Amino acid sequence: MAEVTREAILQALENVRRSDNGQDVVSLGMITGVVVRDGNVGFAIEVEASEGAASEPLRQACEAAVDAIPGVLSVTAVLTAERAAQSGAQAADQAPPPGGAAQAGLPESRSIPGIAAIVAVASGKGGVGKSTTAVNLAVALAADGVRVGLLDCDVYGPSIPRLMRLSGKPDVVGDSHLSPMENYDVKCMSIGFLVEEDTPMIWRGPMVMSALEQMLKGVRWGELDILLCDLPPGTGDAQLTMAQNVPLTGAVVVSTPQDIALMDVRRGIAMFEKVDVPVFGIVENMSYFLCPHCGERSEIFAHGGARETAARLGVDFLGEIPLDGDIRATSDVGEPIVLAQPESAHTAAYRGIARRVLEQCRAAQDGAERQAPNIVMM
Ligand code: ADP
Repeated sequence: MAEVTREAILQALENVRRSDNGQDVVSLGMITGVVVRDGNVGFAIEVEASEGAASEPLRQACEAAVDAIPGVLSVTAVLTAERAAQSGAQAADQAPPPGGAAQAGLPESRSIPGIAAIVAVASGKGGVGKSTTAVNLAVALAADGVRVGLLDCDVYGPSIPRLMRLSGKPDVVGDSHLSPMENYDVKCMSIGFLVEEDTPMIWRGPMVMSALEQMLKGVRWGELDILLCDLPPGTGDAQLTMAQNVPLTGAVVVSTPQDIALMDVRRGIAMFEKVDVPVFGIVENMSYFLCPHCGERSEIFAHGGARETAARLGVDFLGEIPLDGDIRATSDVGEPIVLAQPESAHTAAYRGIARRVLEQCRAAQDGAERQAPNIVMM
């Protein structure tokens, strides 16, 4: 197969012109970050922040131009724009009202065909075990016969490929859609499958949404009962945009019991409430320590804080997972504990939480059906 070169890509892009001034995107210096790997091409198109949504046809034209080069297997073009960084609190305060998506040029659809429920797994800060929880919940659901997908929304530090022991590239099917990668009966998609692990990526607001949009809608997920979305940690701009624009059925917030983390949890819950996404509940991770030698249980942090916080904030407490070396060790080798130790108490805890999440999805769906307007024939 012909090798695809950077020069060939830029040459193809010289034929793409802006509609307003007729100049080509290469001469205007709009194309950056061209990466080519085995015929899979990625690049960014720099636009003014104000032009973000209006540039979608230009983005598509760029993709089409590169797609036509012999040897190109897939093309991912993303729009990027400089955008002032916002703190999480500011971002949450400035959240546009629900339904503002259309105004921002983003899809207004609240569902994705074939996917019955989309659930975010979120945390107020990093390192609380959010991804570990998402992976074990996904595997637990699959073990119950649920058709489950797992979308790694963390474009800054994707960890799903490692945690699900997946490598390689997704297949391109049909009209440049991607096939999800699959392991342990869970269909997965992550930016980690698409870019080099050591490629430094600078993601700006619109670029993140554009990549996410493609991972949601440009992937042949097939029929899914539930798609779990592992959100990046925190409550900043990126998380807010995702919470607002991914058609979420609900959210699960993971926390450790420390007070500070719980403060972050409150912010996380407030973020989802602001954009009208129901919070299904809180999972307390690294809840207590079970000594592997004597089996004694020690409350290392102020255990129970998440349960209290949940009660105070009026959301469900979904369950607690101990701090356990085996959970970390199994995660590290990409074999979630739910599979590695199916009879363990930890697995029972994850499976209990998974069932509660599924119940909440069904309740939310039933509620949505009840609210559907009656059509009266006249
Ligand atoms: P996050 O997604 O919140 O950043 P990770 O899921 O990557 O966090 O977990 C951070 C680290 O903590 C990983 O090394 C993981 O294996 C470990 N970890 C997560 N949950 C537990 C647990 N319950 N017991 C022990 N280690 C855990």
